[in-house]
This record gives sequence, C-alpha cells and structure tokens, in this order.
Amino acid sequence: MQIQQQVSLAPLTTFKVGGPARYFVEAASEEDVRAAVAEAQTRGWPLFVLGGGSNLVISDAGWPGMVLKVALTGITERRDGARMRFEAAAGEDWDGFVAHAVARDCAGIECLSGIPGTVGGTPVQNVGAYGQEVSDTITSVRLLDTASGEFRELENADSGFAYRASIFNTRERGRYVVLRVSFALAPGGAPRIEYADLKRYFADCSRPPTLRETREAVRAIRLSKAMLIVPGDDDCRSAGSFFKNPALSPEAFRQLQARAGQVPNFPARDRMVKVPAAWLVEHAGFAKGLTRGPVGISRKHALAIVNRGGATAADIISLKNEIQQRVLDEFGIQLQPEPVFVGFDKPV
Ligand SMILES: Cc1cc2nc3c(=O)[nH]c(=O)nc-3n(C[C@H](O)[C@H](O)[C@H](O)COP(=O)(O)OP(=O)(O)OC[C@H]3O[C@@H](n4cnc5c(N)ncnc54)[C@H](O)[C@@H]3O)c2cc1C
Repeated sequence: MQIQQQVSLAPLTTFKVGGPARYFVEAASEEDVRAAVAEAQTRGWPLFVLGGGSNLVISDAGWPGMVLKVALTGITERRDGARMRFEAAAGEDWDGFVAHAVARDCAGIECLSGIPGTVGGTPVQNVGAYGQEVSDTITSVRLLDTASGEFRELENADSGFAYRASIFNTRERGRYVVLRVSFALAPGGAPRIEYADLKRYFADCSRPPTLRETREAVRAIRLSKAMLIVPGDDDCRSAGSFFKNPALSPEAFRQLQARAGQVPNFPARDRMVKVPAAWLVEHAGFAKGLTRGPVGISRKHALAIVNRGGATAADIISLKNEIQQRVLDEFGIQLQPEPVFVGFDKPV
C-alpha cells in the first residue's frame, strides 16, 4: 500500500475545485481497502472514501486526513432463473457498467445511462434518473465495516433506500466502504419509458424502443441538459443537480400555490407532492446561463451550479447560499443540497 501526501483533489472531481488530501491511498483490492482503513485508524487520520468525485464539493482547505480512492474493478454475471445477476466492483465506471448490461440485453438500469461516477457511489445516494433508481435492481451490497474491520453483505431491504438517500448517507454515514454491488436485471426485458422526456423522444417511433435505443436516448437528452460529462464543456463542470426536489405535504403545496400560482408538480411517496427544484431556482431569479465571476448556473439546466473556470469552493458556497436564501424568501421552501460537502469546518 502506497500512501501519497498532499495530493490535489480538484482534478479527481467533476467540479474541479478543492484543496489537497493530506494523505491519499488508491486501493485496488479488498485487502488494500482494509489495510488503508486500519492505517488511518491507527494514526488517527479522519477517513474520506472517494469514488468518481462526481457528487462532491471539496473545501479549499482540502481534507486533513486520508482520502481512500476505491479502485476495485471487475464485473461478473450468472443466470438465476428469470434474472441475470451481475456483481460489479465498486471502482468500475458506472456508465461503463450500464453499457455492459445493455449490451447483454438486460433491462433495469438503462435509464441510468450517462450518470458519472463509480458503481460504488450509486447506492450511497440511491442514484436515480428518468424513472429508475438503483435501489430498484440492487439485491445486496458488499461492504467493509470500518467499525469492526469485517467484510459484510447488506441486503437491499436493510440499506434504507429512499429518494437520494440510503443508510450510507444518513444514519451510517462514513461507516462503510462499498466494495461491490449486486444487481438482478431482466434478460430481454423491455426498457422503462415512463418519463415525459423519454416519451417525447420516442413519440414518432412506430415500435417499442430497444434497450440500446433507450440508452442512446437518455444520453442524448442528458447531453442537451449538460448532464453528461463532455470534457472542456464548462456547463458540465459541476456536481450535477445541486439541489434535491423538495417533497411537500399537500398543505404546504397549497400554500406554495397560493404564493406562486401554478407550480409544476408530481406525486411522491406517502401522498407528498414533489416540486422541481429547477423551477424554484429559475423563478427565484437565477436564470440558466447566469454568471457570477468564475461560477454560475449551467446554460442548459437551472439546477446545476457550474465552475466556469478558476472557481473556488467558497465561490460555489456563496452562490448556493444566495440561491437558498432567495428561494426561501420567495417561496418559503428551504432547498436541500444534493452533493456531499467535504472538509468544511462547519456544516454547509
Ligand atoms: C453531470 C452530472 C450529472 C449527474 N446526474 C445524476 C443523476 O441523474 N442522478 C443522480 O442520482 N446523480 C447524478 N449525479 C451525481 C453523481 O454522479 C452520483 O451521485 C454518483 O453516483 C456519485 O458517484 P461517485 O463515484 O462519483 O461518488 P463520489 O462523488 O466520489 O462520492 C459521493 C459520496 O459517495 C461516497 N462514496 C463513493 N464511493 C464510495 C464507496 N465505494 N464506498 C463508500 N462510500 C462511497 C463518498 O464518500 C461520498 O460521500 C450527477 C453528477 C454530475 C456531475
């Protein structure tokens, strides 16, 4: 195990901001992960687990302890009755895994095409897009429990999956390192065409689209919204959507409508009403393409704060605070950020 020092983290993230890791280890095997975690614990270094860096805002000061980059690779598959079971190592590129599953004609994650990051990052916030979430097809997650130093398998039902949430980013945050994720996909299954954007895309199609066409459609739609990483395009130098879509009680939604008139909405779990955060941001006065020096809002998506070049984490936090305050003042809604904030002295 090689421990590097003062490794710049900005290039390892999609936002391209943030200071260095005091110590940095890249682990390519389960035993390397265990050894790195043990080393950090023995030395009293705080540990941060890094995947593809696509959902992070890293502070300008960086991380004072060890950053452990999970680089385990490998995908296996086996037929299990009507399902195909895939096991993908945590360091595999997520979109590469989706491409592999689609090429094997297995349905269940095709709408999650084009999401950046690693396989290991996906259960953390229960990644979702265009009508699918990883929790729909994850069967179990293999983990290192940093509290005991033991490897263990956690079943889907014990992972606390919800909208952009799991036990990994809520009550057990920081406890587990994801090593491998198991999925049950449907061989020969039909793609999920439920989301309005996808239905529109295929409106003129005289036959049901294939999995491959669906994957291509999702990637094309994402490209048009700068939600696909294109090197050199500053509209996708971001952490994707910066705020979660708020879920309101029917009463809170009525109050919002009384204040704002007609507001787009869609039904959520437990009779809640979900409101697009992008609508709130735009209607609070933050238009697509807004620029504030080195930061701004994507020209193609109101929900993405972007680094136009040379931004600091402080610049990003400042724009985030301004948006949250204005949305609160205008609509009485406290927007919750989606990315993970790393290395900040106080809660962001
Ligand atoms: C352009 C763009 C579009 C995006 N679109 C979407 C979208 O449509 N839907 C969506 O849900 N998200 C989206 N995201 C957010 C992001 O891509 C996902 O959350 C992704 O799953 C993060 O994975 P990662 O490997 O990059 O994790 P990182 O960003 O490196 O880490 C995120 C969190 O996961 C933890 N983590 C990562 N790997 C492990 C591991 N192996 N074990 C334990 N903890 C780990 C980290 O500690 C951190 O807390 C988008 C981001 C961008 C930049």
